[in-house]
Amino acid sequence: MECTKCDREAVMSAAYSGSYLCERHFRESVERRVRRRVREDALLPSSATPEDPQTWLIGLSGGKDSVVLTQILHETFANDPRVRLVALTVHEGIAGYRDKSVDACEALTADLDIEHDVVSYAEEFDVEMDDVVESDPEGMAACAYCGVFRRDLLSSYANDYDADKLLTGHNLDDEAETALMNVLEGNVEQMAKHFDASLGPFDERHEQAGMVPRAKPLRDIPEKEVALYAQLRDLPVHMAECPHSSEAFRGEIQDLLLSLEEAHPGTRHSILAGYEEMAAMAAERYRDDGDAADLDSCSVCGAPTTGDVCRKCQLVDAVHAAE
Ligand code: SF4
Repeated sequence: MECTKCDREAVMSAAYSGSYLCERHFRESVERRVRRRVREDALLPSSATPEDPQTWLIGLSGGKDSVVLTQILHETFANDPRVRLVALTVHEGIAGYRDKSVDACEALTADLDIEHDVVSYAEEFDVEMDDVVESDPEGMAACAYCGVFRRDLLSSYANDYDADKLLTGHNLDDEAETALMNVLEGNVEQMAKHFDASLGPFDERHEQAGMVPRAKPLRDIPEKEVALYAQLRDLPVHMAECPHSSEAFRGEIQDLLLSLEEAHPGTRHSILAGYEEMAAMAAERYRDDGDAADLDSCSVCGAPTTGDVCRKCQLVDAVHAAE
C-alpha cells in the first residue's frame, strides 16, 4: 500500500484515521502529536527563560514508551535553553529483568548526553520486589506494592531535583485502560485525582496540590505506534515483560479495548477525550469539597498524605514485619 502523503511504501496503517504512512511521514506524525500535546498541556510556561529554565524529570524505565519519550523530548528541546532534561530510572529489585533495562537506559542517556540517575527500592526502602512477592503481607498483587513504591520515589526525587514537571511514557492504550477501569469501578474520586495529577493543561491547581505535576506527552499515541517508532529508529529498548506483572483487571480491560478498537476504530481516542472532560468536572467538585486541603505530612517520611502515615511507609513496615 502507498503512503497517503507521498508515493513511498506505507509501513503502517491507522484504521482510526484512515491513513497509510511511509516511514518518514509516520515518524513525523508521531513527533508532531507529541509536540502538540506538550503545547496543549502547556508544559513549557511563558515564564521559563534561559536564565530560569524548567527542569523536566523523565521516568525512564528502558521500555519502549519511556525511551521514545526521552528521544523525542531530547530532539525537541536539546537546543532550547529554557528546558533541562533529567532521566531517573527506578530499580525495583526484580532479578533478570531490571538489570537489562537499566543497561538500555544508560545506553540511551549516554548517547543523548542526558543527566541520568538510577535509584532502587533496596537502597531507599530496604525492600526488593522479588522478596515482596514472596512475603506478600497484604495479600495484594505485586503491582499494587510496586506502584506505591515507584510513585513515592519518583515524587521525592522530583522534589530533590527541584523539578517543575515529572514526565512519564504512558501511551494512549495505558491511559484509555486507566480511564475505563475508573469508570467501570465507579471511582469518581479516583477520576478527580487522575485529572489533577496528570491530565489537562497545567495551571495553578497543580501548585495548590503541593506536588510536582506529572505529564504524559505520549498519551495520544497508540502503543503499537510507539513500538513501531522505537523499532524504525532502532532505539535501545528493553522488550522483556516483568515476571511479576499481575494486574488481572487491567488485562481484561486491555482485551476489551482491543476488540472494541478493532470493531470501532477510534474508540480509545474517544474514551480518553470524554473521560478527560468528565474527570475535569469531578476534580472541580472534589476541590470544591476541600479534599485537596486535607493533605498532611507523613509522620515517618514527610511525604504528603491524608492520614498520619503514608501508604508507602505502611507497606514498607508490613514487608519488613513479614521477613
Ligand atoms: Fe512493578 Fe508490576 Fe511493573 Fe513489575 S509489572 S515492574 S511488579 S508495577
